[in-house]
Amino acid sequence: MTKDLKPRTRAVHAGSRRSQYGEVSEAIFLTQGFVYDTAEQAEARFIEAGPDEFIYARYGNPTVAMFEERIAALEGAEDAFATASGMAAVSGALTAMLKAGDHVVSARALFGSCLYVLEEILTRYGVEVTFVDGADIAQWRAAIRDDTTAVFFESLSNPTLQVVDIEAVSALAHAKGAKVLVDNVFATPVWSRAFEQGADVVIYSATKHIDGQGRALGGVILGSRDFIRKTVEPYMKHTGGSMSPFTAWVMLKGLETLDLRVRAQTANATALAQALQGHPKLVEVIFPGLETHAQHALVKRQMGQGGTVLSIDLKGGKNAAFAFLNSIEVGVISNNLGDAKTILTHPATTTHQRLPQEQKDALGITDGLVRISVGIEDQDDLVADFLQALEGV
Ligand SMILES: *Cc1c(COP(=O)(O)O)cnc(C)c1O
Repeated sequence: MTKDLKPRTRAVHAGSRRSQYGEVSEAIFLTQGFVYDTAEQAEARFIEAGPDEFIYARYGNPTVAMFEERIAALEGAEDAFATASGMAAVSGALTAMLKAGDHVVSARALFGSCLYVLEEILTRYGVEVTFVDGADIAQWRAAIRDDTTAVFFESLSNPTLQVVDIEAVSALAHAKGAKVLVDNVFATPVWSRAFEQGADVVIYSATKHIDGQGRALGGVILGSRDFIRKTVEPYMKHTGGSMSPFTAWVMLKGLETLDLRVRAQTANATALAQALQGHPKLVEVIFPGLETHAQHALVKRQMGQGGTVLSIDLKGGKNAAFAFLNSIEVGVISNNLGDAKTILTHPATTTHQRLPQEQKDALGITDGLVRISVGIEDQDDLVADFLQALEGV
């Protein structure tokens, strides 16, 4: 596609490959392998496969290629590799580029599985990892060394919605020759300008907003063509974390409506945060889009909008949080996010249950904290329901 089309146009059309039938909706090429016309053709393809030549679905598949091309066009990346889950993307991107003796600096406020990969797995293979408070630039400056290979962080942390300054951390990392890997799930491809701001590699769990309807697990690693094809692809295709064609089709169709959904979710999240702010049953409402958020200026500069997730801290601790959750009618208790349905989570007893108390304290995961991934329901219904649920606490 021509380069100057806007993201919303690219999200609908980019990457389309039509078969001889000229289908409107992209085909699912549910095939693991591909037939060669001749033995010579097979030989040639194993020497070097062209962009529309496939060998085996673990290496690539037409439906998967459509998804990769579309998300790369949307994000403004040279290339992308689709993976079986968000964690296959996070662990794949890191493991593909690191070796024993390398040094990584990471924010400590991470999705639990990301923390496990950095703290438990990479270190087992001789990678040194230093953790910092992601919002504190002085800590990044002190931790990034001449021999640092990579920095890793979630641009917006889960569930306390701390923002990491992509531009500032990238400048520090690049000055030492380190690559910047950003897990950008909470920012979403709609509000992200991570590459412009200095990221070298951007990672999404497609399970979240890209599917957005809770159907499939998936992930994607975006970056330069060199990094994706020479570092990521050889690692992923030989270790088995590739995305399935069916999943790619779900995600491809998800991309077509991603912008509409994320804008509607963001508008709902903003309205809900405003309606709940200052409520007598709450210690606080945490939403990056509120002017009271500690890093609001950075949020404006980096994302423009507050995103689709807010957290509220109830005054009565766990009992109050549970009473609130149990009386919500518009929304479900679960642990995914980015869905069209509003999803409520009590991190302290579910997603972050295994963290020791002092780490929960350090991350601000209190017993009263409820994370709310806001869906696309009617705004008035959401606000009325949340107020009635708080009333009953
Ligand atoms: C969900 C999530 C992941 C993992 O994605 P899966 O698709 O569940 O494997 C990684 N990072 C963040 C920030 C997430 O929210």
